[in-house]
Amino acid sequence: MIETDNVLIISDIHANLTALNAVLAAAEPYNEVWCLGDLIGYGPDPNEVIEIIKSQPNLTCLLGNHDAAVIGNLEIGSFNFDARKSILWTQSLLNKENIAFLKELPTIIELGKYTLVHGSPRFHLWEYLIDVDTAAMSFDALRTDFCVMGHSHIPIRFTKNSGEQVHPSLQEDGEVIHFQHPTIINPGSVGQPRDQDPRAAYAILDRSTDTWIQHRVEYDIPAVQQRIHQAGLSARHAMRLSDGW
Ligand code: ZN
Repeated sequence: MIETDNVLIISDIHANLTALNAVLAAAEPYNEVWCLGDLIGYGPDPNEVIEIIKSQPNLTCLLGNHDAAVIGNLEIGSFNFDARKSILWTQSLLNKENIAFLKELPTIIELGKYTLVHGSPRFHLWEYLIDVDTAAMSFDALRTDFCVMGHSHIPIRFTKNSGEQVHPSLQEDGEVIHFQHPTIINPGSVGQPRDQDPRAAYAILDRSTDTWIQHRVEYDIPAVQQRIHQAGLSARHAMRLSDGW
Protein backbone atom coordinates (compact mmCIF):
# COMPACT_ATOMS: atom_id res chain seq x y z
CA MET A 1 0.00 0.00 0.00
CA ILE A 2 1.19 3.52 -0.87
CA GLU A 3 2.43 5.78 1.97
CA THR A 4 -0.19 8.45 2.61
CA ASP A 5 -1.75 10.44 5.44
CA ASN A 6 -5.19 9.59 4.12
CA VAL A 7 -7.77 8.25 6.52
CA LEU A 8 -10.80 6.60 4.98
CA ILE A 9 -13.87 7.56 7.02
CA ILE A 10 -16.94 5.35 6.77
CA SER A 11 -20.10 4.92 8.77
CA ASP A 12 -23.44 3.12 8.81
CA ILE A 13 -22.55 0.29 6.45
CA HIS A 14 -25.58 -1.65 7.67
CA ALA A 15 -24.55 -5.05 6.30
CA ASN A 16 -24.44 -3.78 2.72
CA LEU A 17 -21.43 -5.61 1.31
CA THR A 18 -21.85 -4.34 -2.26
CA ALA A 19 -21.80 -0.70 -1.16
CA LEU A 20 -18.82 -1.32 1.12
CA ASN A 21 -16.80 -2.96 -1.66
CA ALA A 22 -17.58 -0.08 -4.03
CA VAL A 23 -16.38 2.44 -1.41
CA LEU A 24 -13.17 0.57 -0.63
CA ALA A 25 -12.29 0.29 -4.32
CA ALA A 26 -13.01 3.98 -4.98
CA ALA A 27 -11.25 5.24 -1.87
CA GLU A 28 -7.68 4.01 -2.51
CA PRO A 29 -5.04 4.98 -1.59
CA TYR A 30 -5.62 5.10 2.18
CA ASN A 31 -3.60 3.66 5.03
CA GLU A 32 -5.95 4.09 7.95
CA VAL A 33 -9.68 3.53 8.44
CA TRP A 34 -12.11 5.09 10.89
CA CYS A 35 -15.42 3.25 10.97
CA LEU A 36 -18.07 5.08 12.99
CA GLY A 37 -20.38 2.20 13.78
CA ASP A 38 -23.54 0.45 12.60
CA LEU A 39 -21.69 -2.19 10.65
CA ILE A 40 -24.85 -4.27 10.67
CA GLY A 41 -28.65 -4.09 10.82
CA TYR A 42 -31.05 -3.60 7.86
CA GLY A 43 -28.80 -5.27 5.26
CA PRO A 44 -28.23 -8.87 4.15
CA ASP A 45 -24.46 -9.37 4.66
CA PRO A 46 -23.54 -8.94 8.35
CA ASN A 47 -20.73 -11.52 8.64
CA GLU A 48 -19.13 -10.55 5.32
CA VAL A 49 -19.13 -6.84 6.23
CA ILE A 50 -17.55 -7.44 9.65
CA GLU A 51 -14.85 -9.67 8.09
CA ILE A 52 -13.87 -6.94 5.63
CA ILE A 53 -13.87 -4.21 8.27
CA LYS A 54 -11.68 -6.34 10.55
CA SER A 55 -9.13 -6.69 7.74
CA GLN A 56 -8.72 -2.94 7.14
CA PRO A 57 -5.33 -1.29 7.80
CA ASN A 58 -4.88 0.70 11.05
CA LEU A 59 -8.55 0.31 11.89
CA THR A 60 -10.35 2.34 14.53
CA CYS A 61 -13.92 1.08 14.79
CA LEU A 62 -16.73 2.41 16.98
CA LEU A 63 -19.86 0.70 18.24
CA GLY A 64 -23.18 1.85 16.74
CA ASN A 65 -26.66 1.50 18.17
CA HIS A 66 -27.56 -1.41 15.85
CA ASP A 67 -24.29 -3.18 16.72
CA ALA A 68 -25.03 -2.64 20.43
CA ALA A 69 -28.54 -4.05 20.07
CA VAL A 70 -27.31 -7.16 18.28
CA ILE A 71 -24.85 -7.99 21.09
CA GLY A 72 -27.47 -7.28 23.75
CA ASN A 73 -26.06 -3.96 25.00
CA LEU A 74 -29.08 -1.88 24.02
CA GLU A 75 -32.80 -2.55 24.51
CA ILE A 76 -34.28 -3.54 21.17
CA GLY A 77 -37.62 -2.08 22.27
CA SER A 78 -36.23 1.33 21.28
CA PHE A 79 -36.12 0.27 17.60
CA ASN A 80 -39.05 0.23 15.18
CA PHE A 81 -40.62 -3.08 14.10
CA ASP A 82 -38.63 -3.56 10.88
CA ALA A 83 -35.33 -2.60 12.53
CA ARG A 84 -36.05 -5.04 15.41
CA LYS A 85 -36.76 -7.79 12.92
CA SER A 86 -33.42 -7.23 11.19
CA ILE A 87 -31.60 -7.10 14.54
CA LEU A 88 -33.04 -10.50 15.51
CA TRP A 89 -32.24 -11.92 12.07
CA THR A 90 -28.66 -10.62 12.34
CA GLN A 91 -28.32 -12.11 15.85
CA SER A 92 -29.27 -15.52 14.50
CA LEU A 93 -26.68 -15.32 11.73
CA LEU A 94 -23.54 -13.78 13.25
CA ASN A 95 -20.69 -16.13 14.01
CA LYS A 96 -18.93 -16.23 17.40
CA GLU A 97 -15.81 -14.40 16.22
CA ASN A 98 -17.80 -11.51 14.81
CA ILE A 99 -19.93 -11.19 17.95
CA ALA A 100 -16.70 -11.12 19.98
CA PHE A 101 -15.33 -8.37 17.68
CA LEU A 102 -18.43 -6.20 18.20
CA LYS A 103 -18.27 -6.70 21.97
CA GLU A 104 -14.80 -5.12 22.08
CA LEU A 105 -15.76 -1.92 20.23
CA PRO A 106 -15.63 1.40 22.14
CA THR A 107 -18.42 4.00 22.04
CA ILE A 108 -16.09 7.01 21.94
CA ILE A 109 -12.44 7.50 21.15
CA GLU A 110 -10.12 10.50 20.91
CA LEU A 111 -7.35 10.48 18.30
CA GLY A 112 -5.29 13.68 18.53
CA LYS A 113 -7.51 16.57 17.45
CA TYR A 114 -10.41 14.26 16.61
CA THR A 115 -13.19 12.69 18.67
CA LEU A 116 -14.97 9.73 17.09
CA VAL A 117 -18.47 8.64 18.08
CA HIS A 118 -21.47 7.02 16.42
CA GLY A 119 -24.21 9.39 17.66
CA SER A 120 -22.94 12.44 19.50
CA PRO A 121 -20.30 13.34 22.12
CA ARG A 122 -23.08 13.54 24.74
CA PHE A 123 -24.99 10.36 23.94
CA HIS A 124 -22.57 8.18 22.04
CA LEU A 125 -24.96 5.59 20.71
CA TRP A 126 -28.25 7.21 19.98
CA GLU A 127 -28.36 11.04 19.78
CA TYR A 128 -29.01 12.38 16.26
CA LEU A 129 -26.78 15.35 15.47
CA ILE A 130 -28.82 17.04 12.77
CA ASP A 131 -29.78 20.43 14.22
CA VAL A 132 -27.94 23.50 15.45
CA ASP A 133 -29.11 23.24 19.09
CA THR A 134 -27.89 19.66 19.47
CA ALA A 135 -24.66 20.64 17.72
CA ALA A 136 -24.12 23.55 20.15
CA MET A 137 -24.52 21.20 23.14
CA SER A 138 -22.19 18.73 21.44
CA PHE A 139 -19.48 21.37 21.03
CA ASP A 140 -19.74 22.05 24.78
CA ALA A 141 -19.22 18.35 25.48
CA LEU A 142 -16.22 18.02 23.15
CA ARG A 143 -12.63 18.00 24.43
CA THR A 144 -11.05 18.09 20.96
CA ASP A 145 -11.24 20.57 18.05
CA PHE A 146 -13.03 18.22 15.72
CA CYS A 147 -15.58 15.43 15.94
CA VAL A 148 -16.61 12.86 13.35
CA MET A 149 -19.88 11.01 13.82
CA GLY A 150 -22.41 8.89 11.96
CA HIS A 151 -25.92 7.72 12.89
CA SER A 152 -28.09 10.20 10.93
CA HIS A 153 -26.90 8.84 7.55
CA ILE A 154 -26.67 12.46 6.33
CA PRO A 155 -23.39 14.07 5.16
CA ILE A 156 -23.78 17.14 7.35
CA ARG A 157 -21.37 19.29 9.30
CA PHE A 158 -21.57 21.99 11.96
CA THR A 159 -18.92 24.66 12.31
CA LYS A 160 -18.49 26.98 15.29
CA ASN A 161 -17.06 30.32 14.17
CA SER A 162 -15.06 32.76 16.29
CA GLY A 163 -18.31 34.44 17.38
CA GLU A 164 -19.42 31.09 18.90
CA GLN A 165 -22.20 30.74 16.33
CA VAL A 166 -22.92 27.26 15.00
CA HIS A 167 -23.59 26.83 11.27
CA PRO A 168 -24.83 23.70 9.48
CA SER A 169 -23.88 22.73 5.91
CA LEU A 170 -24.31 19.65 3.75
CA GLN A 171 -21.34 18.18 1.87
CA GLU A 172 -21.58 17.68 -1.88
CA ASP A 173 -19.76 14.94 -3.76
CA GLY A 174 -16.20 16.11 -4.39
CA GLU A 175 -16.36 18.97 -1.89
CA VAL A 176 -13.07 19.79 -0.20
CA ILE A 177 -13.26 21.18 3.35
CA HIS A 178 -10.31 22.54 5.24
CA PHE A 179 -11.10 22.61 8.96
CA GLN A 180 -10.27 26.05 10.38
CA HIS A 181 -12.82 26.28 13.20
CA PRO A 182 -14.21 23.65 15.57
CA THR A 183 -16.18 21.26 13.36
CA ILE A 184 -18.47 18.28 13.87
CA ILE A 185 -18.89 16.30 10.67
CA ASN A 186 -20.69 13.22 9.34
CA PRO A 187 -19.41 11.40 6.22
CA GLY A 188 -22.92 10.09 5.43
CA SER A 189 -23.81 6.42 5.18
CA VAL A 190 -22.12 3.71 3.12
CA GLY A 191 -24.99 1.27 3.09
CA GLN A 192 -28.20 3.25 3.55
CA PRO A 193 -27.94 6.96 2.60
CA ARG A 194 -30.84 9.14 3.75
CA ASP A 195 -30.24 12.39 1.88
CA GLN A 196 -32.18 11.45 -1.27
CA ASP A 197 -28.93 10.48 -2.97
CA PRO A 198 -28.74 6.66 -3.16
CA ARG A 199 -24.99 6.57 -3.84
CA ALA A 200 -22.76 5.26 -1.05
CA ALA A 201 -21.12 8.07 0.94
CA TYR A 202 -17.65 8.25 2.47
CA ALA A 203 -14.87 10.73 3.12
CA ILE A 204 -11.11 10.95 2.94
CA LEU A 205 -9.36 12.95 5.64
CA ASP A 206 -5.79 14.17 5.28
CA ARG A 207 -4.75 14.44 8.92
CA SER A 208 -1.56 16.37 8.12
CA THR A 209 -3.62 19.32 6.81
CA ASP A 210 -7.04 18.63 8.41
CA THR A 211 -8.57 18.50 4.95
CA TRP A 212 -11.71 16.48 4.29
CA ILE A 213 -12.87 15.37 0.86
CA GLN A 214 -16.46 14.19 0.57
CA HIS A 215 -17.23 11.41 -1.90
CA ARG A 216 -20.17 9.49 -3.34
CA VAL A 217 -19.97 6.30 -5.36
CA GLU A 218 -22.56 4.27 -7.25
CA TYR A 219 -22.99 0.58 -6.55
CA ASP A 220 -25.23 -2.28 -7.70
CA ILE A 221 -28.35 -1.51 -5.65
CA PRO A 222 -30.61 -4.16 -7.30
CA ALA A 223 -28.16 -6.91 -6.26
CA VAL A 224 -28.47 -5.84 -2.60
CA GLN A 225 -32.26 -5.52 -2.85
CA GLN A 226 -32.42 -9.07 -4.19
CA ARG A 227 -30.41 -10.41 -1.23
CA ILE A 228 -32.64 -8.48 1.20
CA HIS A 229 -35.71 -10.14 -0.34
CA GLN A 230 -34.06 -13.57 -0.36
CA ALA A 231 -33.21 -13.22 3.33
CA GLY A 232 -36.84 -12.41 4.13
CA LEU A 233 -35.93 -8.98 5.53
CA SER A 234 -38.22 -5.96 5.27
CA ALA A 235 -39.16 -4.97 1.69
CA ARG A 236 -39.10 -1.38 2.92
CA HIS A 237 -35.37 -1.67 3.66
CA ALA A 238 -34.81 -2.81 0.08
CA MET A 239 -37.00 -0.11 -1.44
CA ARG A 240 -35.42 2.80 0.41
CA LEU A 241 -31.98 2.05 -1.05
CA SER A 242 -33.13 3.09 -4.55
CA ASP A 243 -34.19 6.57 -3.45
CA GLY A 244 -31.88 7.25 -0.53
CA TRP A 245 -34.23 7.69 2.42
ZN1 ZN B 1 -27.23 3.67 11.15
